[in-house]
Amino acid sequence: MTAIIKENTDLSRPFRGTGGVKHNFNSGPSVLPHEVFEEASRAILDFNGTGLSILEIGHRTKTFQAVMDEAVITLKELMNLDSDHEVLFLHGGATTQFFQIPMNILRSDATAAYTETDIWGTKGIKEAKLYGNVDVVCSSKAENYNWLPKAWDVKPGTAYLHLTTNNTIYGTQWQDMELFYSKNVPLVADMSSDILSRQMDFNKFDIIYAGAQKNIGAAGVNVVIVNKNILGKVDRAIPSMMDYRNHIEHGSMLNTPPVFAVYVCMLTLRWLKNNGGIAAIEKINNKKAKLIYETIDNNPIYKGTVAKEDRSKMNACFVMEPELEKEFTAVAEKENFVGFKGHRTTGGFRISMYNALPYESVVVLTDIMKDFANKKG
Ligand code: PMP
Repeated sequence: MTAIIKENTDLSRPFRGTGGVKHNFNSGPSVLPHEVFEEASRAILDFNGTGLSILEIGHRTKTFQAVMDEAVITLKELMNLDSDHEVLFLHGGATTQFFQIPMNILRSDATAAYTETDIWGTKGIKEAKLYGNVDVVCSSKAENYNWLPKAWDVKPGTAYLHLTTNNTIYGTQWQDMELFYSKNVPLVADMSSDILSRQMDFNKFDIIYAGAQKNIGAAGVNVVIVNKNILGKVDRAIPSMMDYRNHIEHGSMLNTPPVFAVYVCMLTLRWLKNNGGIAAIEKINNKKAKLIYETIDNNPIYKGTVAKEDRSKMNACFVMEPELEKEFTAVAEKENFVGFKGHRTTGGFRISMYNALPYESVVVLTDIMKDFANKKG
C-alpha cells in the first residue's frame, strides 16, 4: 500500500482481469484503487497471515478492532477533524440518514432548513417532515435540478441547514462553502458523492454523512461524522439502533458491523493517506474535470446539462442528439467504457470521476469524444 499518486497517466491502473482494459465511469458503487482490490482479495483467503479469512473472524476480536480503529483514525486525519467530531460506520446507507438525522436532532416544534438541489434533498425533506417542521429555503426542482440557487436565507432559530454538496444524478456541486458557513446555523451535509475529493473545513459541519460506495470504499456501510455537542437535545424516544449516542459509546459496534465493507473502507482510506491525502487527490480531480468539460465545451455536439458555474467535478453530465447518442454509445461500449450512461431519470451521459478513477481513463474517453465529434461535426 505504498503506491504514489503520479501526475502522469499511471494513477492506479485502469487495466484489470481477463476482460481487458475497462474504464469504469460508474456512479456508485464505482471504481476503487487497484491496490485495494488486491489487498482485499488476499484478505478473503488469509487475513494478515492469520490463517483465517476476514469473512470468518469475529467483529469483537483484536484483529478486527484494529481495522475499525485504523479506519476511524485515518478518516479523522484525512479530514482534519477536531475532538468534538466522532466518526461512525453505520448500516442502512445514506438513505437511513435522511430520517436518522431529524430523529436525533430536530425537535418536533423546531424547524430545519433544506436546500432542494437534487432528488436526495427531496427525499431528505420528506423524511424530516416526519419529525419536525421543514423550511425549503431554495429549490431547483422545477428546472430538473440543473443549477444551484444562491439567493436565499435561513430564518433565525433554524435548528439546522441541510445541503447535498454534490448532486450525483444531475451533476451539480456547491463550489463556495462560504454561502453555508455565513448562515451561522448548524450545518448538516450529505457528502455521499464528493467526500474526500476536495479540501474543506469539515469541522464547520455538525453532521456529515456519506454512503461509502463512491470515494470511501465498498457498498454496505455509510460514514456519519457527528459533532457530539449537537446530540441529546430532542425529547422523543429514539430506538437504540437509531441513537447516535449509542453508536458513539460502542465505537460503531453496537451490533455486528459490516466487517468486510469496513475493511475495504480502511484500505481505501489508507490508500488515500499514503498518496498525499485530500490535497493531492483534489489536484488530480481538478485535472480530470477540466479535461472533460473542455472537451464538452469545445465540441458543440456535446451539450452540458447544468449551469457552468455549478458543474460537478465528480459527475459530468451531457446530452447529444438522440441519433448521435445511439452511435456514441456503441463506440463507447466498443472501447470498454463502463457506466457512462446518464441516470434513468435524465438520459444522456454521466461521466463519474471519483478519486480512484485513473486520469488515464478520462484521457482515453476525451480522445474518443474528440474523434467522434470530428467525424460527426
Ligand atoms: N445521497 C446522494 C448524494 C447519493 O448519491 C446517494 C446514492 N447514490 C444517496 C444519498 C443514497 O445513498 P444510499 O444508496 O447509500 O442510501
